[in-house]
Amino acid sequence: MSKAKPKLAVYWASACGGCEIAFANLGEKLLELTEHLDFVFCPCLLDAKRADVEALADGELAVTLFDGAIRTSENEEWAHLLRRKSRLLVAMGACAHGGGVPALSNLSTRAEHFRSVYLDGTDNPQGHLPSARTVVPEGVLTLPVFSERVSRLSDVVPVDYAIPGCPPEEHQLWNVLLLFMGRGGELPAPGSILGAGEASVCAECSRRRSDKKITAFRRPWEFVPDPETCLVEQGIACLGLATRGGCGALCPKVQMPCIGCYGPPEGIYDQGAKLVSALGSALDIGPIRDLRDPAEIAARVDAALDAIPDIAGLVGKFHLAGNRGRLV
Ligand code: SF4
Ligand code: SF4
Repeated sequence: MSKAKPKLAVYWASACGGCEIAFANLGEKLLELTEHLDFVFCPCLLDAKRADVEALADGELAVTLFDGAIRTSENEEWAHLLRRKSRLLVAMGACAHGGGVPALSNLSTRAEHFRSVYLDGTDNPQGHLPSARTVVPEGVLTLPVFSERVSRLSDVVPVDYAIPGCPPEEHQLWNVLLLFMGRGGELPAPGSILGAGEASVCAECSRRRSDKKITAFRRPWEFVPDPETCLVEQGIACLGLATRGGCGALCPKVQMPCIGCYGPPEGIYDQGAKLVSALGSALDIGPIRDLRDPAEIAARVDAALDAIPDIAGLVGKFHLAGNRGRLV
């Protein structure tokens, strides 16, 4: 009798679906994957239901790739269910790893979101707001509870590994899957980052770097940058300075700044704070000895930052939940 293959699940919580697209884009490799792993659950690709997962024995899934942030009570229930059923739980992609773009909503309260979406932005004269339980003549309607803030997967359950990226690059995802298929060498210690490098995107970027001194930031659409020179030195806020490598510096390669999707490199806890410090140190607002008035210094910094309308949104786009909202 042939030996049963280890079981794999993929789940999607609060996210855009890009991680699933990256997974689906593995294409024919998925057939190779199914020779080694029994792919039992993935709402995007397979018609398996929650009852099928609940029917599994605890620990029966060898590995679950969980993408998406934790925004609702339903996301949290799935996190606990899949943690219980999985021997290895992996946070796949920026949202599960650091909160991702959904965690930008931590800059506002739940009440502010509800007011903006359901009261100010909707024709809703009776002021109805979403409710977890609504009684109607036909019965009771239920909705998941919308949490006060967005959390990472590791904030609600223990996580064994994380794969960064928005979404993870397909070749990196495949390298990780090879590990789980037993064809990519030994798994690293629990708690490790998989499918990425340890150094920053700058270490993979071929642009020439020298002393960075700029008087103001500019937006990428305002001019055509020199393709050989570091973007920061040309006034573009490239976040490769404090972003984990592994993508091959994809964005700077095509004249666009890194926007930080692989999260902080090894040894950096707060990507946003590191980026504020790194970009700030590239700014030259004039000889500081001539600037004695703090208001004058603040005015010059504000002028230099004029092209960046949302600094928290820039440096905290993918890891705000990981930074515990300390940018606000
Ligand atoms: S800051 Fe951006 S453009 Fe400059 S070296 Fe780093 S990744 Fe390349
Ligand atoms: S360059 Fe930066 S934003 Fe672009 S894919 Fe790589 S890590 Fe993500």
